[in-house]
Amino acid sequence: MIKIALPNKGRLAETVRAVLDDAGLGVRVDSDRALTASIGEGFVALFVRAQDIPEFVADGAAHAGITGWDCVAESGRDLEMLLDLGFGRCRLVVAIKNRDDGEAGAGAASIDAIAEGARVATTFPRLAAKFFEDRGKTVQIVPISGAAEVAPHLGIADVIVDLVSTGSTLRVNGLTEVATVVESSARLVSAPRTSLAPEVARALNELAFAISSVVNARHQRYLMANVPRHALEAVRDLLPGLRGPTVVDVLGTDFVAVHAVVPEKSVYKTTLALKAHGCEGILVTRIERLVP
Ligand code: AMP
Repeated sequence: MIKIALPNKGRLAETVRAVLDDAGLGVRVDSDRALTASIGEGFVALFVRAQDIPEFVADGAAHAGITGWDCVAESGRDLEMLLDLGFGRCRLVVAIKNRDDGEAGAGAASIDAIAEGARVATTFPRLAAKFFEDRGKTVQIVPISGAAEVAPHLGIADVIVDLVSTGSTLRVNGLTEVATVVESSARLVSAPRTSLAPEVARALNELAFAISSVVNARHQRYLMANVPRHALEAVRDLLPGLRGPTVVDVLGTDFVAVHAVVPEKSVYKTTLALKAHGCEGILVTRIERLVP
């Protein structure tokens, strides 16, 4: 059995389960407190905190894990990234308190605004310490367990190092981002490949392949339309698909059926453009897996 450590709760948990489900590795747990679940095809899921997953994998309690890259970097453990799943995108940033007049601090958008010896509140003490050390800046790290954004207001710290995605939490709390420490997203990680038994390496390769086919499909749609034959050339430019659109004769008509894969974000405009070219029967569906 290949053991995969997965986040038991938090921001990544639900999407990770949905992706595995689509990959044919449906995670069925009877209660929120179940620690393990068989997910088929020789895999067992171990549910632990996202922050603990790197340790589980590095110590051999699990063969692989899916967690945020920020957690992997903070752990400082030697792990290999097998796949970037592309969701859970966020940045670990350094942020400082705005001046009392609401403007960003002096020397905004630069760590030059941070005084020597400043107190830095963070749930990422290792990464924060290394960041300032690499820049020759002496700071005092204040490890906390959550809600870093309130620390400057409580007088606990002058600076924070925290995760952001849109940056709105920082703004609401009167903080300005001045540097990025690490860019993160959900990743599949294992011990270094060279240390894996061949059958484990093979199973993890297959797992990475199955998951990548799901994440590749998530932002793509399958589009079908009946296109007037005379408009085919114009429509071809609208629908590049994976290798150009598939075109099928619709017998006894002046239409051809065109099938193509299109990015989710272009569906709205493409559909309108197809309609303007006289297309009919336009159908857009989700794709479960996509192997280019
Ligand atoms: P949490 O839900 O706080 O346990 O965070 C679990 C993981 O989700 C973090 O380690 C990050 O990889 C990711 N994450 C945290 N905050 C964000 C955010 N604001 N946007 C996207 N992903 C995030």
